Amino acid sequence: MKRIGILGSTGSIGTQTLEVVRELNGRPETADNPHIQICALAAGRNIERIAKQAIEFQVPVLCIEREEDVPALRTLLGEHSADILTGGDGLCALSAMPMDLLVTAIVGMRGLKPTLTAIAQGTDIALANKETLVAAGSLVMAAAQAKGVKILPVDSEHSAVFQCLRSAGKGGANETEKILLTASGGPFRGYTKEQLAGVTLEAALNHPTWKMGGKITVDCASMMNKGLEVIEAMHLFHVPVSQIDVVVHPQSIIHSMVMFRDGSVLAQLGNPDMKVPIQLALTDPYRTDSETRRLDLAEIGQLTFERPDIEVFPCLRLAYEAAAKGGTLPAVMNGANEQAVEFFLKKQMNFTDIPYTIERVMEAHVNGQGEAFLENPDLDDILRCDAWAKAEVRRLICP
Ligand code: NDP
Repeated sequence: MKRIGILGSTGSIGTQTLEVVRELNGRPETADNPHIQICALAAGRNIERIAKQAIEFQVPVLCIEREEDVPALRTLLGEHSADILTGGDGLCALSAMPMDLLVTAIVGMRGLKPTLTAIAQGTDIALANKETLVAAGSLVMAAAQAKGVKILPVDSEHSAVFQCLRSAGKGGANETEKILLTASGGPFRGYTKEQLAGVTLEAALNHPTWKMGGKITVDCASMMNKGLEVIEAMHLFHVPVSQIDVVVHPQSIIHSMVMFRDGSVLAQLGNPDMKVPIQLALTDPYRTDSETRRLDLAEIGQLTFERPDIEVFPCLRLAYEAAAKGGTLPAVMNGANEQAVEFFLKKQMNFTDIPYTIERVMEAHVNGQGEAFLENPDLDDILRCDAWAKAEVRRLICP
């Protein structure tokens, strides 16, 4: 029996994680098909959904965003008794509980402290919350290494790279020449700058291949998601950013590739289905059965590839710049992006103002206006820079 906790259980990754748990628990228990006990769930404001999940999986500890929702949650829980925690402190208290694996499927920087708390307890992490690694990758990976904790990728691209490296043999990072991250190109692939200027929120939320939460869907449309993934890959696989390339692959069948020093390329393919990488993280170090739709290459017919257009989608360029400079710049870029996307989701900002605003905030940071750039930041420095970047976006948009 594996004991797991899920941060963000009511979201896209969280609910799919619970679907995988149902499937694993519905089959006989074996080493490669562990049965899973959910020991804690955390969500934001969707108390109806977390209540249903808690009752179905008999979960003893819950965390929600707001104290004022606790009485209503207790009513929804009926006869099921659970400890209910709240807010950021609640997330950390939950993450400090003894468990085998914590699935971090919360959005944004609020995932950072709970992730570090779980690592400090020696708990392995199934990481979906990429913002954590973007802002504080060096701290998170160093803490994980010090505690012997595994950071298992849930992001489909990173799971693909992880699988390619695992299949490649003993040489690991020494044998790797390049990581080739694939990108669907999002709903605006092929657009000109002029076309992009007038796009609506509804169009940005209409992703061609993946169904995901709002923030990551907008990040895909701006290609910031791929930028965040470049930085995530750099930390997860210990490679310099110069060894990570992005290739646009609209069918989303190849989830990513690794080119080795002899020129060989390994790729991981499959129909787009997040339950596959989620399951791989839950059953680590094994691979087990899955009901995912099987790939029929003849039916797909063509797999195509293009170079990303960083003129039209500057977020990808900004992420490469942040990764190359390092220090506090990725945290500032990530914080500015989180705030800008929040404005866009509330229809308070135009789509093309997202990269424009992020770039202004990054420039101010490296030019010493506002929060100073630091080469080797600690946790407090990163949290301060994140807060400053968000405030700076608010100041630029609502002076
Ligand atoms: P969703 O928006 O679907 O879900 C977000 C989750 O976070 C919800 O459970 C939400 O709770 C919870 N949450 C929000 N605010 C708080 C808070 N203050 N305290 C506690 N919980 C909170 O996002 P996704 O599942 O799409 O994405 C989650 C993460 O995984 C992101 O970092 C994303 O980049 C990454 N990821 C997602 C992929 C996908 O396919 N969706 C693929 C790869 C990575 P509530 O609903 O109750 O408000």
